[in-house]
Amino acid sequence: MSKVGIIGGGIIGLTSAYYLVKAGHKVTVIEKGNLQEGCSFGNAGMIVPSHFIPLAAPGMISKGIRWMFNSKSPFYVRPSLNPDLLKWGYLFYKHANQANVDKAIPALKELSFYSRSLYQQLAKDLPFDFGYNERGLLMLYQSEEIEKEEQETAEVANHFGVVARVLTADQVQELEPDVKVNVRGGVYFPGDAHLTPQDLVNQLVPFLKDSGVEFITDCEVFDFKIDNSKIQTLVTNLGNYSFDEIVLATGSWSGTIAKRLQLSLPMQAGKGYSFTLNNVQKNIRIPSIFLEARVAVTPMNNSLRFGGTMEITGVNHKISMNRVRGIVESIPKYYPEMKVDLPTEEKVWHGLRPCSPDGLPYIGRSRQLNNLILATGHSMLGVSLGPGTGKIVADLVDEKKPDVGLLSFNPERFG
Ligand SMILES: Cc1cc2nc3c(=O)[nH]c(=O)nc-3n(C[C@H](O)[C@H](O)[C@H](O)COP(=O)(O)OP(=O)(O)OC[C@H]3O[C@@H](n4cnc5c(N)ncnc54)[C@H](O)[C@@H]3O)c2cc1C
Repeated sequence: MSKVGIIGGGIIGLTSAYYLVKAGHKVTVIEKGNLQEGCSFGNAGMIVPSHFIPLAAPGMISKGIRWMFNSKSPFYVRPSLNPDLLKWGYLFYKHANQANVDKAIPALKELSFYSRSLYQQLAKDLPFDFGYNERGLLMLYQSEEIEKEEQETAEVANHFGVVARVLTADQVQELEPDVKVNVRGGVYFPGDAHLTPQDLVNQLVPFLKDSGVEFITDCEVFDFKIDNSKIQTLVTNLGNYSFDEIVLATGSWSGTIAKRLQLSLPMQAGKGYSFTLNNVQKNIRIPSIFLEARVAVTPMNNSLRFGGTMEITGVNHKISMNRVRGIVESIPKYYPEMKVDLPTEEKVWHGLRPCSPDGLPYIGRSRQLNNLILATGHSMLGVSLGPGTGKIVADLVDEKKPDVGLLSFNPERFG
């Protein structure tokens, strides 16, 4: 049995704690917040093996530049001479090509499928309901240009064993009998699933406490004492802590904290927004993505959550209501009978996605620090890849070979 300290109580820290305590370890989660906020709560809750193409892909740079000049668009990078942003941007540019995408797809797909299978198990094993549903995902399009792109993605998906069906507008409508849908067509991924993220996180914490996991909240790790290629001590605002093994699951903050460990972990926070309608009388049945608007829509019982936007503007909590307006204005374009008012700022949730420059997470044991495991950088896929990552972390602590290959996720791939 090892004494394991996990830094960060988001979905990655919590799933790691779950598999570690199950494997018989003594686990402590150290969280600078109160476990009620953070990126793992208000997200769209989609479990998406369909998203096997990383963010750094051909065409993303030109699309991004087009979007930059529209204040309601789904993507924005605040221009800055910050060296971390410049390095990240350069690495993103270097990876946004077909050769890297071809390399990334099998790795991402394997981890996604693995993680979904673990969700199926969790839905049986956990003594609470977290809204896990396997109803697939609809990718909806209105323009000829996006139809062509998405149909090509569907072909690639089928080639890699991710089932994708191209649907006409009428076939989309048949799947959504209660809500009028205005699209040119769609691609249906029947293998995707969804859950209610706040129900998962809010119930997992007390369950883990009952299972013996210790939580230290309002506790920020700001430095480390290193000796003999090992982290000997975590220095926090509440004093010093020592563990046999350390898991770094600090989301968007990981790049900064890794510097204290002399590790290069390029990371930018990708801010996104969501808001949720409650008591929706006529709800959609299948989670959907409005492709032109890049808006994710997820039914959660009788609620309906809309999420979107990727703003690379550093770690900050400012809400851009113009971009939220962009999300709201997209709704009647796809659901013409659904009228949604702009929510007030207090009703808008925001989260910081931990984005690596090549679109792949950092998962693995450090080569430089023997007792450090990194598990971060999941960008838009942290919920999807949570259980898979947590199980890998537990296997690494146990010195077992993980069930999926980790080569592409090497946390020290950028030096
Ligand atoms: C609008 C939106 C929609 C999304 N939709 C989906 C979706 O449908 N499906 C999907 O798979 N993903 C989705 N995501 C992405 C997903 O939410 C993230 O990938 C995921 O939450 C990241 O989890 P994490 O545990 O790595 O990071 P976080 O949840 O950010 O957790 C990291 C934790 O570490 C703590 N921490 C940081 N530094 C320290 C320190 N020094 N000391 C102590 N604690 C520290 C932080 O306080 C934080 O609580 C979405 C994100 C957004 C914004």
